[in-house]
Amino acid sequence: MRELVVATTNQGKLKEIRQLLADMDIKITSLADYPGAPEVVEDGKTFAQNAIKKAATIALYTKKLTLGEDSGIQIKALGNRPGIYSARYSGPNANDQKNNAKMLRELKDVPMDQRQARYRCFAALVDGRRIVDVVNGSCGGLITTRARGSNGFGYDPYFLIPRYDQTFGELPPEVKAKISHRARALKKVRDVLRNYRWK
Ligand code: IMP
Repeated sequence: MRELVVATTNQGKLKEIRQLLADMDIKITSLADYPGAPEVVEDGKTFAQNAIKKAATIALYTKKLTLGEDSGIQIKALGNRPGIYSARYSGPNANDQKNNAKMLRELKDVPMDQRQARYRCFAALVDGRRIVDVVNGSCGGLITTRARGSNGFGYDPYFLIPRYDQTFGELPPEVKAKISHRARALKKVRDVLRNYRWK
């Protein structure tokens, strides 16, 4: 069967990517299926560089078509931080809770009409030593002052979609799967996979 390795250990991401590709008749594996895979140091300066590095490193190891995904949140009032550092925003022992607490602290005096943010997602597909494609998607919202809902992961309980007046923590996963940065990038990945010549 056709296999696509997703070069991540992030369960939130993996779950969403699996759902977004569920109907494609492709077996989706991840780093959990390749415990000996090398660790990827995310030292790129852009989302695209990190996505390519993840995919390229893991593709060399697995010898399978590999998807590297790098994503994060850009907050306007913070000069687009944390951006590529979203996972590590609160330091070396960062987790979602600490990251969200730091975000709220930094935005303490920022009024609601200046709390615009944008989720970004870059996805690279690499096969052997060839970059098959790099695509991206984004999704705009506002950062709330308190957590709302527990769906999703990361910054989702604070990421408000004004059109729904609900955060990604509150919206059903089916809605996030239509409008999120990852959904938009993965829609393009689906087109690339449809045209890909599987070996
Ligand atoms: P990466 O593993 O370096 O790509 O880190 C991505 C980080 O961005 C995650 O750990 C989250 O903090 C944040 N992030 C990316 N996408 C989402 C999302 O869909 N919801 C919430 N947080 C996200």
